[in-house]
Amino acid sequence: MIVYCATSNPGKLREFRAAGSNRIIIHPLPGLNEIPPREETGSTFEENASDKAAYYSRCTDEYLFVDDSGLEVAALGGEPGVHSARYAGGNASDQANNELLLARMRGMEDRRARFVCAIALARGGEVLRVFRGAVEGVLLEAPHGANGFGYDPLFYYPPYGRSFGEIDPDRKLLVSHRGAALRDLVRFLERLARKQPR
Ligand code: IMP
Repeated sequence: MIVYCATSNPGKLREFRAAGSNRIIIHPLPGLNEIPPREETGSTFEENASDKAAYYSRCTDEYLFVDDSGLEVAALGGEPGVHSARYAGGNASDQANNELLLARMRGMEDRRARFVCAIALARGGEVLRVFRGAVEGVLLEAPHGANGFGYDPLFYYPPYGRSFGEIDPDRKLLVSHRGAALRDLVRFLERLARKQPR
């Protein structure tokens, strides 16, 4: 079964592809660049993922999912949260976002942070399910490692004793917010695929 994802984030796409199975093949939505982008107006990851999944699923007959995710920092009242991708401004780079976060966290003792991911699955404009995952960690005071994307080099994961920027993609997916949501998504799709004629 082909399942489309609507994302232009290469970091997310690599993780989606790795999470597929023999039966569930995950591809980017063909022609995504030609579709007018959907603005994010929701105040939760679930709202944004659902709204975008309903919107983009009108462009295909196949199942389609959207991931909305980000970093919640306890000392910043949950920020950057749904603004994670554009924390330092509209088209901010990962580096600019990381630098702003480090500046706001300078001197803060409470460095607890959490990655959250909501994945909404839709077909023909209707949302079928939303899957959520989260992982708890601690913000470092400088980037460590070049793996992953976004805030990964700043996110220290105590059980591994490393940042997400320092671990292999497969090991990240085993414990990450996106890995958890993707496993539930793939399990759900496997059940759907079993009911469909081959
Ligand atoms: P979205 O495209 O609006 O969902 O924005 C997600 C943003 O949250 C990304 O651009 C990253 O800045 C951040 N983010 C989400 N998931 C991860 C992750 O697994 N690692 C690092 N940063 C992440």
